Amino acid sequence: MTASRFTPGDYCLAVKRARAGRGLFALDPIPKGACIIEYVGPTLDEEAWINSRNRYLFKVTERKTIDGWNKENMARFINHSCRPNCEIEIRKGRVFVMAKRAIKAGEELAYHYGNEYLDGVIKPMGCKCLKCSS
Ligand SMILES: [Zn+2]
Repeated sequence: MTASRFTPGDYCLAVKRARAGRGLFALDPIPKGACIIEYVGPTLDEEAWINSRNRYLFKVTERKTIDGWNKENMARFINHSCRPNCEIEIRKGRVFVMAKRAIKAGEELAYHYGNEYLDGVIKPMGCKCLKCSS
């Protein structure tokens, strides 16, 4: 298989203390448009999803949800931001985190979790992203 736009680059990433608990940080500069990491995990069907109390779920489609609570999935540490530096691209049912703009070494990675999650879960607790808390 040849490398594509959706092959995660070999960027050094680290989990560190962030504004909202823990977060995932870039230790290398990442160019705009680069594929940073894939959100990986077992797939849950609708019933398993409804019964799960797991916080680390990524809803790919109405029928498919990825269970992100596994050690391999560093992407689970990426926090929400209302002004994110990353964006999600879904390709053939797989979830990739892409650089929305050029990212500097030391920046925390963040993507927008979607309005449904924002209104239902984040806003009631108070959004801790850079845009909302500064
Ligand atoms: Zn916010």
